[in-house]
Amino acid sequence: MDNALTAENQHLRQQLQSLLAEARQNEEKLRRFDLIERRLIGTHSLAEVIQLLLRDFRDVFKLDSLTLLLIDPEYEIARLLEQESRDGAALPGLRLLESGAELAGLYPQGRPYLGSTGGAALGRTCAPEAGIASVALLPLTRQDALIGGLHLGSANAERFSADSSTDFLERLTAIASICLENALNHERLKSVGLTDALTGINNRRYFECRCLEEVALARRTGASLACMFFDLDHFKRINDTLGHQAGDEVLRKAANVIKLLLRSCDIVARYGGEEFVALLPQTTLMHAREIAERIRANIAAHCFEALPGESLIVTASIGVSVLAAEGGDAPLADQAARMIAAADQAVYQAKHGGRNRVVTA
Ligand code: GH3
Ligand code: MG
Ligand code: MG
Repeated sequence: MDNALTAENQHLRQQLQSLLAEARQNEEKLRRFDLIERRLIGTHSLAEVIQLLLRDFRDVFKLDSLTLLLIDPEYEIARLLEQESRDGAALPGLRLLESGAELAGLYPQGRPYLGSTGGAALGRTCAPEAGIASVALLPLTRQDALIGGLHLGSANAERFSADSSTDFLERLTAIASICLENALNHERLKSVGLTDALTGINNRRYFECRCLEEVALARRTGASLACMFFDLDHFKRINDTLGHQAGDEVLRKAANVIKLLLRSCDIVARYGGEEFVALLPQTTLMHAREIAERIRANIAAHCFEALPGESLIVTASIGVSVLAAEGGDAPLADQAARMIAAADQAVYQAKHGGRNRVVTA
């Protein structure tokens, strides 16, 4: 009898120990999930959400591979990320898909798949690092639509298995999906507020923000910064003779010609009406003058089809200035304003000189 009691006692103790160990493990798991959730919610930009998912997920969950797949049929995410990371920060582990076709059939009934890497289909979408033995394929969905997937891989074959509970992972991917969508919406709004609706190039507000940044950078590095001001000649006549819509079309095409002849690091914006402005970092007055002359010649030679079958010659007067070598102690906004005013003044001279010409301040 005594023996039986002792055995039962021992058995119960063991059971208690293992339950305690499991509880501790769950507590630790909860702590990790909580940590990453808090970080996710605190992110400010799309790149930050993606970086956090890729880097922190991998570290916190001690994964051997991690891939974030996002469906991006119109290359919108690609474009936004390109704009956001001007420093060119790469996002290893991110894959943008042209359609959701590649993800079809990966998630049973739209739920996570946990298990071996068995099928070739899985290999395709996980990081192809050697030695991944088990995976968790988590669908990212918003309003019942699949927006992508988060694919976790482990070298440990036991790590993810069909009978593991997925509650935590599903909650986390739901939060990740919301954060991704919020960040995306935020970037969309930001880009709408900083883009000129007619021409699709930046607007004056964007230009003014960036101008301060570029002036500060030029001061810090001692590099030359050039400014160009463009004003289309006799633009009112185009509106008066061909109508407002034809005028709009000319504005769109002129913006395009200017943009195509500048570098991707230059900043070009519609300043207002039929006026455009550009900032050229690391460009001297001499060099800027040559570029302005090339743009002037291209606009004048361009066949503007303002209305179908109706070709038109359009010219522009261009003023060029550089950030003054002196006056570096003045507030940045004053320095920027002086540079822009000098380019504007040069346009005025170009108009007086007969239009269709470049004048340097
Ligand atoms: P100048 O050679 O002296 O620059 O003459 P201009 O006719 O180009 O200059 P002015 O400032 O007299 O006229 C600018 C015109 O641009 C007047 C305005 O109606 C027109 N404009 C401004 N914004 C838009 C726009 O968004 N679309 C169209 N179609 N016209 C616009
Ligand atoms: Mg004007
Ligand atoms: Mg004009």
